[in-house]
Amino acid sequence: MKHVRGPLCSIDVGERTAETEDIDDLLESYIGGRALGTKLAHDRIPFDADPLGSDNRLYFATGPMQYSTMSFTGRMSATGLSPLTDGLLSSNAGGFLSRNFTGTGYSAVEITGASDELVIVHVTDEGVEFEAVPELEEATVPETCEYLEDEHDLGSEHTTVIGPAGENDVRFASIMTSEERAFGRGGLGAVLGSKNVKAITFDGDSTTEIEIPPLQMEIHGEAANSDSPMRDQGTTSVAEYANMVEALPSYYFSELSFEGIEGVSGDRVEEKKYKKGTCSSCAFACKLPTRDEESGLETEGPEFETLMAFGPNSGVDDIVDVMKSNKLCDVYGLDAISCGDTVAAYLASEDEFGNVDLIHDLVEKIAYREDVGDTLAEGVDRVHEELGVENWSVKGMEFAAHDGRTLNGQGLAFATSNRGADHMYAEFYPYEYPLVDADDAFDKSGLEGKPPKVVELENINAIKDSAVFCKFSRDFLSEERMETLLDADYDELLALGGEVVAMERHFNNQRGFDRSDDRLPYELPEFEQGLDEYYAERGWNDDGTVPEARFESGSGAAPADD
Ligand code: SF4
Repeated sequence: MKHVRGPLCSIDVGERTAETEDIDDLLESYIGGRALGTKLAHDRIPFDADPLGSDNRLYFATGPMQYSTMSFTGRMSATGLSPLTDGLLSSNAGGFLSRNFTGTGYSAVEITGASDELVIVHVTDEGVEFEAVPELEEATVPETCEYLEDEHDLGSEHTTVIGPAGENDVRFASIMTSEERAFGRGGLGAVLGSKNVKAITFDGDSTTEIEIPPLQMEIHGEAANSDSPMRDQGTTSVAEYANMVEALPSYYFSELSFEGIEGVSGDRVEEKKYKKGTCSSCAFACKLPTRDEESGLETEGPEFETLMAFGPNSGVDDIVDVMKSNKLCDVYGLDAISCGDTVAAYLASEDEFGNVDLIHDLVEKIAYREDVGDTLAEGVDRVHEELGVENWSVKGMEFAAHDGRTLNGQGLAFATSNRGADHMYAEFYPYEYPLVDADDAFDKSGLEGKPPKVVELENINAIKDSAVFCKFSRDFLSEERMETLLDADYDELLALGGEVVAMERHFNNQRGFDRSDDRLPYELPEFEQGLDEYYAERGWNDDGTVPEARFESGSGAAPADD
């Protein structure tokens, strides 16, 4: 099996030390990216760690595909204990960081400890340096990127940065790269903030080579010539369809379609798009640099999920208002899905849907934890009772779109996902809209035949996050092609993906997660039976836990010195 190469760089920001560690044996078994990060996190983060404590650890890792120039590979993975879900999770970001990360020569970088002053960590192929930056306290993401450009001649494609939200431990703070791309879901920005790390830069000229088969060029060519609507409208190309089939959460999940969809449709986004946008090496180029000529507002996006959260779910029907919300989330370093849903919860509690001035004010207040923003910074799960609204979250994570009340298989996938109500964990929704071949499609209603498919999709997405492939490679990456590119049997890949999911689940079990956390805020037909089938397919216990025997050979325990 192809795998990433290079030692682990382990950085203790409290002690200001950095050590390299040969982990070749792990690399051969765990490819890279999310699988590698999850294995390291599972074995090294104490099961009882505080997500915002010095004993939490954060892992950045690429995979073997980042050594190719193929489309759909401009992404990388971050893994840690989430302050939002209280469980182990990985988050994935696009942009241009992944290639610069490979330039350091490391397979993965581990951040542990906590600094007593705000620092930037510079990681290069020549070592690690620490820079105290008290002057950057509460600096925004663009301000910090400007500093790194001016003082270190490092463009934002070399950087991971947190904004005020990360410094202020907002539970859904993101880690930003290339200024507008985010390790968004799960609050890993707050983990960096709790360690007093404002930014990490990656640079170097490491010449490590990993041979990738020529098939990569064929896929690259197909991506360049694709006529997919995503190339014009990105993920928002599905907005009107989702609305039509009633899978678009609106007015804080009280409705499933939005009468103002025309104002926030994919067509409106395309009208605002002023140039092509992409990630490193990707000819598919689905990103959305947008500009409003009248106000001069520029941002990247919104993507569909942000559009849902700050548009229909907040009662907003003007794309420029959603663009501004999107921009503010990037500037302050906030996950736009969780932030939008949490703002929508507040709007529901105050009967203020559509109040765009209030919405934009709330985003800023959340980032700085000012006034009611201090409450909202905790996320829907922790504040819904205080607000007097329903708890629209799973395992503490706010919902993405593709509503499970209509797309029942996606609903099951929201429930079983180890990282909560995120659409990319299993990514079942394309099979129910359907956006796949008729032979592969499922009827939206019911769960018949779906639990094994949820398992398969969770497993293969874990491999995509490890290789690392972008999930939007779906139409270009058949089973046979994955086998060729990764030099592995598809069944072998599925088995490893299953182990990644089981490691996450096992870690979370030690923190008290079980079947009672695989819950939705709505009823689904035959849901309990669906859960039973899902656990049986995975070989897990009926209570949603992983049999201890799976992890009794040394893994699953933090090192003795922890
Ligand atoms: S398909 Fe889109 S998100 Fe994925 S790597 Fe290419 S440009 Fe980035």
